[in-house]
Parts: sequence; C-alpha cells; structure tokens
Amino acid sequence: MNKVELLYKLQGIDDRIKEVERKLESVSNLKEVGVREEDLFKREEALGEGELKLKELKKRAKDIEFEDDLLLRKEKDYKEQLYSGEIGNPKELEKLQDKLRKVSENKGEVEEKLLELMMEIEEGEGKLSEGEDELNKIREKVKELKREEEFRKDQYKEELEELKRDKEEVKRLLEDGLISKYNDLYRRKSYKAVAKLEDGYCMGCRISLPFNLVREVKEADEMVLCDNCGRMLYYKG
Ligand SMILES: [Zn+2]
Repeated sequence: MNKVELLYKLQGIDDRIKEVERKLESVSNLKEVGVREEDLFKREEALGEGELKLKELKKRAKDIEFEDDLLLRKEKDYKEQLYSGEIGNPKELEKLQDKLRKVSENKGEVEEKLLELMMEIEEGEGKLSEGEDELNKIREKVKELKREEEFRKDQYKEELEELKRDKEEVKRLLEDGLISKYNDLYRRKSYKAVAKLEDGYCMGCRISLPFNLVREVKEADEMVLCDNCGRMLYYKG
C-alpha cells in the first residue's frame, strides 16, 4: 500500500469515527424515559390518594361495625327483658316493644350502610391493585429503555475503540509530517483531505485535471495535489 492509499484508508477510518461519535451522542431514550417517569409520578400520586381514601373508608366501616355491635347488644337486651316475663305492666311492655322496634330498625339501617361501605372498599381495593400492576409495568418499561440505551452506547463505544486501534495501525506506517499535513487538510477541506482521481477528474472539487497532472498521479510515487482544490490525489489503479 503506498502512502496515498494509506492516507485514503485513514480518511475512511476518520469518517467512520466521526459518524459513530455523532451516533453515540444522539443515542438517548431520555425523552421517552422522561414522559414515562412523569406518568409514573402522577399515577403514584393518585394511588397514594386512593390508599388514603381506602384507609378512611375502613376506619368508617370499623366505627359502623362498633355501632352495629352496640345495637345488637341492645336488641338482645330488650328481647331478654321482653320474654323474661318479669314485666307485667302493659304500658311498660308496650314501651319496651317500641324500643325494640326502633333499635331493630336502626340496626337494619346501620347494616345496610355497612354493606354499601364494604362494597365501596372492595371496589377501591380492586382499583388499587390494578393501579399497582400498571405502575409496575411502567417501571419495567423505564428500566428496559435505560438498559437498551446503555446497550446501544456500549456497542458504539466498542466500535470506536476498534476504529481507534485501526487508526493507530495505519498511522504507524506513515511519517508524522505527512499525518499532520493530512490532518490539516482534513479539517480545512470539509473532511476530505484525500480525493479520488476518476476519469481525469478530481472527485474533491469535480474539476477536470490537466493530462500531465493525471499522468503524474498515476505514475509518481510522490504525493500529488489537485491544482484546483489542493487535496491529495489518490488513483486506484
Ligand atoms: Zn480538486
């Protein structure tokens, strides 16, 4: 491989390095992760509120159960008094019967309320568990997105390492002076320091080159620059 060919190869590696570096920079699931994390936050908040409400409902249910228990005891007490045969006075009996009826009515209402509350609690618990499942799914997705991003970054990093090793290998075969000349041109000439010569044209500036110059490129072992753009000319024979 002559020097121009080596420089052409170096340019190919540099191009790929530039491309991979750009890709590495643009690999990001950050936006998608952000959207999902925001959703997660809102859901967590709603779930927290749901839990609080459920706690309140359970406390209310407990209070009502206590009330129900009290009424049950009262009812039992009145019944015992009524059927003990100890009360002979009809007026007192009537009063007791009235009390018993009211307590039983009250108990019925309280139990109905309790039943409604229990149903509400059951529904709330169902929603809460659904919400937890949904949260876990989103958490998994966020993890997956982060993992995938890392994986892709690692791949690009690996490729970069490989390219840099290749570059060093090529550079070892070239003199420092030539490399700095190439680097300077690469920067100044829109990342094209070495241009191919094709059908008498410089592919860097697309100008037809004089016959003498073309022959020089094809035959000379020395570096030949394009008259017009100053790039190093490479002819693949
Ligand atoms: Zn040119």
